[in-house]
Amino acid sequence: MIKDIKGLHHVTSMASDARQNNHFFTQTLGLRRVKQTVNFDDPSVYHLYYGDETGSAGTVMTYFPFQDMMLGRPGVGEVGETQFSVPKGTLKYWQDRLLAQGVAGLEQDTVFGANRLRFMGPDGDGLALIESADDARAPWLGDGIPDDVAIRGFAGARFSLHETAATEELLGFMGYQRAGKEGDVTRFIMPDGNGADTIDLAALPQTPFARQGAGSVHHIAFAVDNREKQLEVRKALMDTGYQVTPVIDRDYFWAIYFRTPGGVLFEVATNEPGFNRDEDTAHLGEALKLPGRYEAFRDQIEANLVPLAA
Ligand code: ZN
Repeated sequence: MIKDIKGLHHVTSMASDARQNNHFFTQTLGLRRVKQTVNFDDPSVYHLYYGDETGSAGTVMTYFPFQDMMLGRPGVGEVGETQFSVPKGTLKYWQDRLLAQGVAGLEQDTVFGANRLRFMGPDGDGLALIESADDARAPWLGDGIPDDVAIRGFAGARFSLHETAATEELLGFMGYQRAGKEGDVTRFIMPDGNGADTIDLAALPQTPFARQGAGSVHHIAFAVDNREKQLEVRKALMDTGYQVTPVIDRDYFWAIYFRTPGGVLFEVATNEPGFNRDEDTAHLGEALKLPGRYEAFRDQIEANLVPLAA
């Protein structure tokens, strides 16, 4: 069994409008934009990262805004809900705030004993705030959101799956522990993780497969401390029969990817070197950062991207 995974690292989704996406995550939700770069495989598209002050693992929501991309159709074989952690007793504040800003899909209930506020991102993204009494992570205070209500980072994610058995086995192998069942949803928790520790598996045998598009999660990344641990994780996965990519340099972390039996694309990403690798913590996310191989084409790349608001 793998012992080096610490919970989530980041979640990467797709969007149809960069400015709208930037506004929603920095203003409406109050996260910090910690990096403004491009899709390393397609530099005509931004890659935007939103998280806490430094973009700690377990707090980072990232987006590829493909301008005017068609909306995805939710279904099985994907991450159906990305969940952020907020302090206990704050859903009233968030309900009022999101309602006032015209956010769609607001719905309150409880999951595994915790209060949940579900809502949609600008492209129908499946998002939720989950109350937690004991999340000690320091929040980023964006757009006047007070310290005692602000988002702490991810709580976790809920996968929508046709059937859950193979994914349950994989999560167990990755170090997650089964922690209960509620209706059709099975909960897994990473003991001693980074705070973004829960994965819920929803079994939806009658639901059609998702069609990926704007608002869909592209992949979900799990955190390891460093490259050495990542190589151990890669070997363990490959020895178990998973087809894992070689290690890829993403400038702010090192990444490996593999497709899981339920259809969800997994990544394992390192906590090193981090988002302050190429700009000071005080100014993270302010300037467009390009990987070295695109630096020579900066003028052309910048001319193709819509400017974001600060
Ligand atoms: Zn990723």
